[in-house]
Amino acid sequence: MADDSEMQEKIKTLNDWIQGSDNIVFFGGAGVSTESGIPDFRSQDGLYHQQYDYPPETILSHTFYVRHKEEFFRFYRAKMLCLDAEPNMAHKKLAQWEKEGRLKAIVTQNIDGLHQKAGSKNVLELHGSVLRNYCEKCGKSYSAEYMRDSKGIPKCTCGGDIKPDVVLYEESLDSQTLDEALRAIQQADVLIIGGTSLVVYPAAGLVDYYRGHKLVLINKDASAMDRRADLVIQGKIGEVFGALD
Ligand code: NAD
Repeated sequence: MADDSEMQEKIKTLNDWIQGSDNIVFFGGAGVSTESGIPDFRSQDGLYHQQYDYPPETILSHTFYVRHKEEFFRFYRAKMLCLDAEPNMAHKKLAQWEKEGRLKAIVTQNIDGLHQKAGSKNVLELHGSVLRNYCEKCGKSYSAEYMRDSKGIPKCTCGGDIKPDVVLYEESLDSQTLDEALRAIQQADVLIIGGTSLVVYPAAGLVDYYRGHKLVLINKDASAMDRRADLVIQGKIGEVFGALD
């Protein structure tokens, strides 16, 4: 009961901060989409706890992609392409706050395109998107459905291999996206961080650029960042956002 009233108090504080701001930035990770049925990496039922011939961070590396492309695409189609997933309350509220002029940007480590599916416009995708795919030879673009329906290594009409526009381990982040994310976070009034273990760099380092005093952390599990936050809400982000205006 005491826990419940403490949670109500925290939700009220967050609601007040959101309603009183026109410069909210959201920084999120895989935990934002677990309530849409897409597994994250590090939760108990996440991909790191499932058994494969190689660990996911090995399969999702540039070296592995170059050396074992067919194996890469087997994993990619089975685990990374979740095209039937629908946005949950977290995606929907963020889109609503943007429309209301409260939220300036979403900085996401996710590659699933669910923020855009919910209607968000200014989404800075640090790790790219499964929705964009390009021929490595001629640059022609392909849909995610084409990738899903292809067999083995997806091929372009020119004969080249098609690569998802997703940042693999060992690859660098797009510098313009990184710059825009950094600027948005630097200028934010309220920074809400949600559904991320904050262990993947350089993305996680962006949080250090926040200068304000309304740093909110919403995560299912405790994280190393908890003591730096002004407000920590431990819970499922879709449920928490569902309780907000
Ligand atoms: P992560 O798996 O390392 O961490 C997820 C975090 O979210 C954990 O702390 C977990 O406790 C929390 N979480 C899970 N479900 C939650 C919920 N419903 N509400 C609140 N918190 C919840 O993910 P990460 O920090 O994003 O970093 C790993 C990498 O995973 C990223 O680079 C990202 O590109 C990639 N990834 C993306 C997707 C996607 O696009 N949906 C899915 C899997 C992995």
